[in-house]
Parts: sequence; structure tokens; C-alpha cells
Amino acid sequence: MQVLKFGGTSVGSAERMKALVSLVVNSNPKIVVLSAMSGTTNSLVEIANALYEKNNAKAVELINKLEEKYKLEINKLYSNETALNKGTQLIKYHFDYIRSFTLDMFTVNEEKAILAQGELLSTALFHFYLEEIGVSSVLLPALNFMRIDENEEPDLIYIEENIKNELAKHSGANLFITQGYICRNTFGEIDNLKRGGSDYTASLIGAAILAEDVQIWTDIDGMHNNDPRIVNKTHPIEYLSFDEAAELAYFGAKILHPTCILPAQKRNIPVKLLNTMQPDAKGTIITASVGEEGIKAVAAKDGITAINIKSDRMLLAYGFLRSVFEVFERYKTPIDMITTSEVAVSLTIDNASNLDKIISELESFGTVSIDKDQSIVCIVGDFGGEKRGYANKVFDALKDIPIRMISYGGSTHNISVLVEAGQKKNALVALNKGLFNYN
Ligand code: ADP
Ligand code: ASP
Ligand code: MG
Repeated sequence: MQVLKFGGTSVGSAERMKALVSLVVNSNPKIVVLSAMSGTTNSLVEIANALYEKNNAKAVELINKLEEKYKLEINKLYSNETALNKGTQLIKYHFDYIRSFTLDMFTVNEEKAILAQGELLSTALFHFYLEEIGVSSVLLPALNFMRIDENEEPDLIYIEENIKNELAKHSGANLFITQGYICRNTFGEIDNLKRGGSDYTASLIGAAILAEDVQIWTDIDGMHNNDPRIVNKTHPIEYLSFDEAAELAYFGAKILHPTCILPAQKRNIPVKLLNTMQPDAKGTIITASVGEEGIKAVAAKDGITAINIKSDRMLLAYGFLRSVFEVFERYKTPIDMITTSEVAVSLTIDNASNLDKIISELESFGTVSIDKDQSIVCIVGDFGGEKRGYANKVFDALKDIPIRMISYGGSTHNISVLVEAGQKKNALVALNKGLFNYN
């Protein structure tokens, strides 16, 4: 069994949906994971925000506008009356449901229910299209098997057991379609795997069913050496190791959800990044093998806060770091980078929602200072151990960029630096020139 995930642009219009047929209709058994049509989740977020602000008029206007877009699209998608009727009813059902939230209290649970509608719509619309053209497929409800636990981590045991039960209901079927991104939480409520989470769904399903491979189909021909939204010239990378791809995804390469590599990696399932607009392009193949030595790619993650704790008592004081880390653990706040000196420790976080409480606890250990609006620039490749010269290359490329923190040696495939957000673009451009010879 294969798992093929198609992102928002790949299902973004009637035309794009029709183009998927040549990629999914063949004799290989597969589960197709779909995102919402592009722009939908952003619109649903806007609708939810209007409802939080109690601006019902704005919410209704946004809902109607999105509904119109879907109505136009299904007229292009279906040519027979039965399919068009089914599509029309489906759209009415989901948009009436979204509209129902304008009449009642609005909390985070209602928001999550609204955010789930995009994937429910795209999968059903595609399923009806396949039906219209005579291709049989099974719509698998992700809400019946995808679940996160009390720590908001996927519950792989539950997922594995339940997706197998769902698949067993349809013996003989070889084309399944399911929703990316959406899941239930430990209370059984509708929840999600965070923005961009359809990649994560695909990898979790791949791991659960021990798929042959997990294919992430998107609008670019694989992982590029640098962020194509920021620098002019980039190239795709043919092979990456799981560790390299995971670092790039976590540190900002938007093509992959930050944590989506892990489930596939745990079960050694290859992940392929492919382009729906150019299906024959090689793309990127991610496996356990490390491949070529050297620097392969750079990425950057925004919204980072740096925290420095300076303490005389840190000198020779065992237990100091443990006490500091415990504060972050209490507030469920992951630390990304860390550097220490004899009297101080600097670390970074990307979730600043409990920052004030964290600072006030840290103040009992010493003087705390904060730098907001920072970016982590991460350089990824295979340059550990005996290999020489890579750090020198990186810092030579960055010689004109002010650097706040450096992290090297945590793994053999990552050098990370912290810069002010305003310097991120300059850093990526400088690395593109210094490491990859692009001007
Ligand atoms: P999808 O909707 O298919 O999930 P995304 O927009 O989430 O697609 O991811 C694809 C986009 O990621 C590309 O269009 C590209 O602009 C962006 N991107 C950022 N960094 C990279 C990178 N290093 N390599 C490839 N794409 C990247
Ligand atoms: N539709 C969701 C989002 O836009 C999930 C995804 O596309 O991966 O974030
Ligand atoms: Mg994505």
C-alpha cells in the first residue's frame, strides 16, 4: 500500500482535481490524503476570528464568499446532474453547519470544528468526481482513526488499530481517500494537527499501515537548497536522510510540516516529495541513508524568542540547568537552541504564550533578559566528526551578518545560528552565495 498526499494547490481548483486522476488511478493499492482546497483553511481562520470578535456580519459575509467559490468550482468539476446535485447538497450541508456557529457561543472547540470543514469538503468533492467518471473509491473518515493524546501528540497505537479496522470494512477496495490535518483529541472532540498538518497525517498513516512509501505531492519539485520564497535561485535536492529532512522541516522549510518525518522514520518508510505540476521531475527521496557528504540546504524559522539567564551561582553549580529546564517543562514550552558559558545560559523558544510566567520563575535563578523577533537559520548536511571546513564555510558566508547565538555539534548534520528577524533574508542570501555559488 502507498500513501499519496496532495496539498492545497494540488486540489485548489476543479482543473487541479481532475489532473489528480492520472496520478491516483492505477492498480497500486493506495490511500490518498487530501488537504483543503488552497486558501480554504486561511478563510476558515478568518471566519473564526470574526466570530471570536463577535462580528457576525463580517463572519456571514466571509462564509457566503467562500461558499460562492465552492459553488463555482463544482460547476466546473462535474458534468452530470447526479454529481452536481450531490456536490450542491454537500456544500449546503457544510456551509449551513459553519453558519450555525454565528448563532451560538464561540470557543476554541467551535473554531476547531470550523477548521475541519475544508478537508471534509475537498475529499468528498473528489470522491464524487471519481464516482462520476466511473472510478470506484472509498472515503475513509479520518475522524474515525486519527487521534491525538492529552499532550497533543498523535496516538499511534490508536491510529494503527483504528485505520486497520476501517480498511478491513472494505476488503477488495484499492483506492481510499481520506482527510489530512483533522483528528480527534483525547476527549473525542474535533481537533487538528496544526497548520500544514496534512503531511503529518500522511506520514502517520504510512507508519500505521507500514506503507511502501509516503508521497507528498505539492507545487514544487522537492526540497530545495534554500527557501524559494526568499532567494532567487534554488535547486532541488535529490536525496536527503530522515535526520536532514526533519531538521529542515522543523527549522522552517515550509514544504514539510515540522514534525512529519518522524513517524515514517521510526518505521523506515521512504518519503518522496513530488510535484503535481511536473509529475516526472525527480523530486526528493528521503530515506535512512545519509548520502553525499557536504552542505545540502538551509532554512529559517521566524518568531523566535531568545532568553538569557545570567547567574553567579551557575559557576560549578550542578543542577542549575536542570532547574532551568524544569521551568520550560512546566509550561510545556520546547527549547530549540541552547548555548552556555560559565555564568550564563541562552536558549530559544518559538512558543511565547507563557513567556511572562516563565520569566518570573527564571528570575529566581539570576538576571533574565529577552530578545524577541529573532530567526533561527539552520544549515543542514553531513559534516560531522572527522570532516573539516564546513563551519568555516558557513561563518565566512555570514561574515557581514550579526549573529546572536551559534549551535554546532548537537548533531552531525546541523549548524544553527540565531539572527534578528530583520537579518534573516540577508543571511539566506549570503548563504546562497557563499555555500551554493548563487548570486
Ligand atoms: P502544500 O499546500 O502542497 O502543502 P506548501 O505551501 O505547504 O504546499 O509547501 C510548498 C511550498 O513550500 C513551496 O511552494 C515553497 O514556496 C515552500 N518552500 C519553503 N521552503 C522550501 C524548500 N526548502 N524547498 C521547497 N519548497 C519550499
Ligand atoms: N489545510 C490545512 C492548512 O492549510 C492543512 C494542510 O494543508 O496541510 O494548514
Ligand atoms: Mg503544506
